[in-house]
Amino acid sequence: MKRTITIEEVRKAVEAAHAHFREEKGGKNADYIPYLKNVPSGLFGITVCLADGRSVSAGDTDYRFGIESVSKVPTALLVMNQYGARKILERIGADATGLPFNSIMAILLENDHPSTPLVNAGAISACSMVRPAGNAEAKWKAIAQFISSLCGSDVTVIDELYRSESATNFNNRSIAWLLKNYDRIYDDPEMALDLYTRQCSLGVSTRQLAVMAATIANCGTNPVTREEVFHANLTPHIASLMATVGFYERTGDWLFNTGLPAKSGVGGGIMAVVPGVMGLAAFAPPLDGAGNSVKAQKALEYISVRLGLNIFNPARIEVAAQESVKEKACR
Ligand code: GLN
Repeated sequence: MKRTITIEEVRKAVEAAHAHFREEKGGKNADYIPYLKNVPSGLFGITVCLADGRSVSAGDTDYRFGIESVSKVPTALLVMNQYGARKILERIGADATGLPFNSIMAILLENDHPSTPLVNAGAISACSMVRPAGNAEAKWKAIAQFISSLCGSDVTVIDELYRSESATNFNNRSIAWLLKNYDRIYDDPEMALDLYTRQCSLGVSTRQLAVMAATIANCGTNPVTREEVFHANLTPHIASLMATVGFYERTGDWLFNTGLPAKSGVGGGIMAVVPGVMGLAAFAPPLDGAGNSVKAQKALEYISVRLGLNIFNPARIEVAAQESVKEKACR
């Protein structure tokens, strides 16, 4: 039932998506973090990395933009890798809030857990869980190294973005202390908030994000460096979390249109995963009302429909893998 496509078909789809949506004018840059307001709005890049490491790109794919909420995915993975997936379900949860990413109301409504590591509350909670406990620099090293391993290359903080976020993150500060009030912060709350702010300020390119997505698609083994970054059985768990809440209150619309587990960030990036097949990344700063890049959503939706990537469709595709790559199952 599955259809096999070639990398040439993927290349044509990526180039066509870039050409179709380059002039799209919808949305506007995030402005509640001053740095993001000043990122050139016309930047637009798309990269697809196959689960065997080959990739295709179009547009501004080397530009380093703020990873923002896409960073919630690697931290959730790191914590699941350190504790096992069950513990995260118990301590943080896996339910969509149906509310904005920075909602305080969601915390008040869910008084037994912050609901999911892919909204601000759950992500701050996840940062508090990162091992080793009690040591901010060692925790940061664990997060930054893990993200770099997923990307297959060094990922560093954009200092100006970090300063900009730290000077304006009052809502997130309230979230951290409200979680502390409900015993859902597992280390120092200010430390957890700072780790979260720092990880959101990491600069990544679509090339790096696509390798991260391909590593998730490839059951935890980075297809470019061949490093085993996380336990293979975590791919279905993280893909489920992305599918349920990756675009906050617009997640249902996204999933209905694309059938792709994906995560957006207010820096304009989106990362999507087709387990066993490929990772996709797109970047363009102007956002819709829920904080999701307008152009990146359109580009990825176009590619998903054109190539038949929808994971709920039994006729979805496979990509002809290079001979050297052995079949892998996420068990
Ligand atoms: N750092 C941003 C925040 O906490 C990330 C939000 C996002 O990308 N949706 O508000």
